[in-house]
Amino acid sequence: MKYLKNILKRTPQNSPLWGAAQVQNSAGGYSFTVTGWTRLNRFLILGSEGGSYYATEAKLTRENAKAVEACILEDGLRVVKTIVEISDAGRAPKNDPALFALAMCAAYGDEATRKAAFQALPKVARIGTHLFHFAEYVDGMRGWGRGLRSAVGAWYSQKESIALANQVTKYVQRDGWSHRDLLRLAHVKTDDTARNALYKLVVDGWEDLPESEPEDEALRLMWATERLKRATSEAEAAQIVAEYRLPMEVVPSGLRGKKVWEAVLPHAGLTFLIRNLGNLSKSGILQEGAWNEIREVTNRLADANALKKARIHPIQVLSALCTYQSGHGARGGGEWKVVPQIVDALNVAFYRAFGNVAPTELRWVLGLDVSGSMGGGTIAGIPGLTPRLGSMAMAMVNYRVERDSQIVAFSDEMVPVRLSKTQSLEEAIHQTNQIPFGRTDCALPMLWAMKNRVEADVFVIYTDSETWYGDIHPVQALREYRQKMGVPAKLVVVGMVSNGFTIADPQDGGMMDVVGFDTSAPNIIGEFALGNV
Ligand code: CA
Repeated sequence: MKYLKNILKRTPQNSPLWGAAQVQNSAGGYSFTVTGWTRLNRFLILGSEGGSYYATEAKLTRENAKAVEACILEDGLRVVKTIVEISDAGRAPKNDPALFALAMCAAYGDEATRKAAFQALPKVARIGTHLFHFAEYVDGMRGWGRGLRSAVGAWYSQKESIALANQVTKYVQRDGWSHRDLLRLAHVKTDDTARNALYKLVVDGWEDLPESEPEDEALRLMWATERLKRATSEAEAAQIVAEYRLPMEVVPSGLRGKKVWEAVLPHAGLTFLIRNLGNLSKSGILQEGAWNEIREVTNRLADANALKKARIHPIQVLSALCTYQSGHGARGGGEWKVVPQIVDALNVAFYRAFGNVAPTELRWVLGLDVSGSMGGGTIAGIPGLTPRLGSMAMAMVNYRVERDSQIVAFSDEMVPVRLSKTQSLEEAIHQTNQIPFGRTDCALPMLWAMKNRVEADVFVIYTDSETWYGDIHPVQALREYRQKMGVPAKLVVVGMVSNGFTIADPQDGGMMDVVGFDTSAPNIIGEFALGNV
């Protein structure tokens, strides 16, 4: 009997748990599988861009498409609802997976699902570029029937004229699609003269540019943009940009000098600002001692409400931080002198972009999987942002707000991490980069806590769940921990790769899966730890 008990309590990770629905993961070990719905969330938030350690981008995209399709067959309306929820709240770093999944709903859903997908289009495709991506995805999946054409038409006709003029000037074409193509395809018509003039301008452009500005606000924007295109000096361009508050996107690239950057800055959107901090430094606007400009930019980066409103995702901030801090652009974008206040402001903005994360006053062990596979692939296609580095950034969100919280790292052994709560993201990430790669044993954080008598209410493990090396499964280690320590500890698995695996037992109510870099993840983890969800 004792022998049998031991087998049931301690199973090596290269064998499945007895009586549990486990599958072999890509590393050869045995993990649980997440439900199709968790996988849908993982795809919508993490995407498949950049692939993973185990799968190329194409393979990961195919797998995810299959998972999305299965969800559509099970409950298409729920898929559309999930897409809208995640996309509209800005919970994902990139919108492409949402657009791709929405195109799938529009192509493969039943009638009600297709209808819901069409209706959701303006909510998910919020800017011109999104609409072009959607058009390209859906074009590869189905024909341009009446429902689809009128959905695209509604994208245009539902917008206020000034908003539409903004979109068509700022985002002209992408993926081989232009507004001209889509307006023609959708046969957008109206009795409103000014509106018709706007559509006609989008399709045909200006024949003769009038000397004086049009009365109508939207036509005036079109007119000013055209004048800008014909500008012959930077001074002229800067004057037009300032007067009509035009975005940098509509300025011809040869005219984007310091004067134009100065003219754009006061009315630039937050997304643009965050992406162009390096350019602002390069052009000499954000430089040491330029107190007013530095203050203007840092104030905007610190504004939690504005971050939320502009749907600034922490990953965008992190990506901007890595680029800005490096002092040079990613693809030969020139060099600049780094202004420390901007770096500090980005550190603050990263945490604020998660919204208000409330402390739980529980005891936390945050376990980072730093094994070899976590160093492969990227999160949401951000160059250089591996799941390993992303895990550290994610763990810092929780670590900073909780009083009793410790970060540990593991591969096939525990790796010491020494971080203070006030250390910057860059320092934290730098430390992670120094850790050598190893094999994977996701049971280690629980075994470590048991051995060292560390009391923990919650273990959070940031991983791809490709565990294989240990002689006991993570869930068995957790159960042993609960029993020996007399603490009903919970386990949260933060999935850092959009694969189908998890180390959490779906049958155990004390274990949960969340998706790494879901902006709502820190609060969901907290609520779960407190027993509220
Ligand atoms: Ca691994």
